[in-house]
Amino acid sequence: MSDATTATYPVPAHTAARTICDTETYEAMYRRSLEDPDGFWREQIGIVDWIKTPGVMGNWSYAPVDIKWFEDGVLNACFNCVDRHLPARADQPAIVWEADDPDAASITLTYAELHAEVCRFANALKAMGVAKGDRVTIYLPMIPEAAVAMLACARIGAVHSVVFAGFSAEAVAGRIDDAKSDFIITADEGRRGGKTIPLKQTIDDAICHAWHEVKGVLVVRHTGADVPMTHARDSWWHDRRETVSADCPAEPMNAEDPLFILYTSGSTGKPKGVLHTTGGYLVWTTLTFKYVFDWRDEGALHWCTADVGWVTGHSYIVYGPLSNGASTLMFEGVPNYPAVDRFWAVIEKHRPATFYTAPTALRALMREGDAPVLKHDLSSLRLLGTVGEPINPEAWLWYHRVAGKERLPIVDTWWQTETGGILISPLPGAIPTKPGSATKPFFGIEPALVDADGKFIEGPASGNLVLKSSWPGQARTLYGDHQRFAETYFSAYKGLYFTGDGSRHDEDGYWWITGRVDDVLNVSGHRLGTAEVESALVGHPKVAEAAVVGYPHDIKGQGIYCYVTPIAGVEGDAALEAELKAEVRREIGPIATPDQIHFTPALPKTRSGKIMRRILRKIAENDFGSLGDTTTLADPSVVDSLIAGRKNR
Ligand code: ATP
Ligand code: MG
Repeated sequence: MSDATTATYPVPAHTAARTICDTETYEAMYRRSLEDPDGFWREQIGIVDWIKTPGVMGNWSYAPVDIKWFEDGVLNACFNCVDRHLPARADQPAIVWEADDPDAASITLTYAELHAEVCRFANALKAMGVAKGDRVTIYLPMIPEAAVAMLACARIGAVHSVVFAGFSAEAVAGRIDDAKSDFIITADEGRRGGKTIPLKQTIDDAICHAWHEVKGVLVVRHTGADVPMTHARDSWWHDRRETVSADCPAEPMNAEDPLFILYTSGSTGKPKGVLHTTGGYLVWTTLTFKYVFDWRDEGALHWCTADVGWVTGHSYIVYGPLSNGASTLMFEGVPNYPAVDRFWAVIEKHRPATFYTAPTALRALMREGDAPVLKHDLSSLRLLGTVGEPINPEAWLWYHRVAGKERLPIVDTWWQTETGGILISPLPGAIPTKPGSATKPFFGIEPALVDADGKFIEGPASGNLVLKSSWPGQARTLYGDHQRFAETYFSAYKGLYFTGDGSRHDEDGYWWITGRVDDVLNVSGHRLGTAEVESALVGHPKVAEAAVVGYPHDIKGQGIYCYVTPIAGVEGDAALEAELKAEVRREIGPIATPDQIHFTPALPKTRSGKIMRRILRKIAENDFGSLGDTTTLADPSVVDSLIAGRKNR
């Protein structure tokens, strides 16, 4: 590997000068969080406002699985995200909205306006019959009403279940049934990348598909399209808004009362209804937002490009930033509409201080070269972040050089829907970075490596990533299926939380997530992370994207099967195949030489942009009959063309 990719990048001087947490502070706080968790959390819980301050901190067990934090505390998450900022920030923007269409006016809601809107929305929900504990499905595009609806649910103690507004009727129906959700909030239509998406229509179809009876549907008017309304069941938000008061008390909630259900991306199987509760989740998202984004009491703008349909949107568009009194940017569109410089144009226009996006988006943008970035003024930025997948060093360095001007810290944040918030990440003022490493654990997090038999592996090594102890933001269960929760995360290694991910732990104590454990190859007895091979392939200038899986191989046990998407205008031919094999050999070694290179114009991805390796594995294995749940795929037709390609090999 080149020197740049293996180098360590120190904390930038301007970050060191303003940071809320330097190296010494991090180390002292981290040590204390493990040695005296009770004392540590007693000091930290004041980061949120409690109606009744908890006396009990963590009270948890992994065998049997029973997780509680702050169980005798009482609070309201919406109050913390909205009301408590009114004295100091009533006129500060809480939500800034940028439309899909760059010529459409943006919208700003101040904290005072957000408060009034959330109260009205909460009163409208009550008028529909929504009560504390009821599950409310939210199927909304990236418009301010999505955050307003979530906060309104939290205000009255209803449990929101946000479903990404691009899922099919069938997928929505499955989630309505699983959550036994009586109420739905949707919009007439959504807009993304210049296209309209028929949301109300999809909800009508989903209600037909679902066996659970939906009692009420609240519809937000967004595009103004004429949509059919079912009498007695459907009502318009703008009609109800006229009839309700802008004042609604925030319901006192026990810390362990559910806040939301969120279905995982489905990269590895049937989506799981992850349940988060109020106190622990809010403490965790508030604290991680503050430390990872190095957030002082500054009222600046934070931009997380995720959709509210994913946990990243929940924790780092809505709850984390608003609980800290930040201004949060919601973007309705996509990175490449109307042109590939849209992200950078939005940064120039709204001037966020922090920018948080996914490696998949960065790789797509990197492919377009530096010019679209360089033509915009990005001088408002002081920090860059990534989440969602391992970031390959090439993409990290591009982000660092072109967007960060070799000046901004990058936080590569590792976490999961199930973890509620960030668990492993640099704290920008405290931890020097290495491209491709999520670096060090957050306070209270105790990562460890185990081998296949569950024995701890010490020292610099690779293995299965587990967490030894609980943290406040941890999921409490899978909705309605505690046994599946226990089996999925706590049965592989007794007494430990198994992340499903593999990791390397290096000589400096840095963590390098290598991808899902299912994605580790065993080639002639050597263990190889698919992410490593992918990173070598993507490092080739003619490759846009790559996904690597294992397949049965007579001699090696497992062979290396590579799906490769060349950059626009490049042909995937025998010459390129030979070049790529040579490149991987050179970077990793002969053991990693690909056995098969399958060129394809596209890869199967979830709606959140993650490659579905489980499907690629089946196709590589020539097993086309049992591809499993494909309802969460962004474009199912990709699968047929991959199968055809495989059959021709
Ligand atoms: P499912 O659990 O349904 O298969 P999913 O795991 O893709 O879906 P998420 O909870 O959104 O759903 O994603 C968490 C996973 O994403 C992690 O387990 C890890 O594999 C990957 N991931 C997230 N952030 C990072 C990161 N910074 N570096 C490496 N991997 C990451
Ligand atoms: Mg997962």
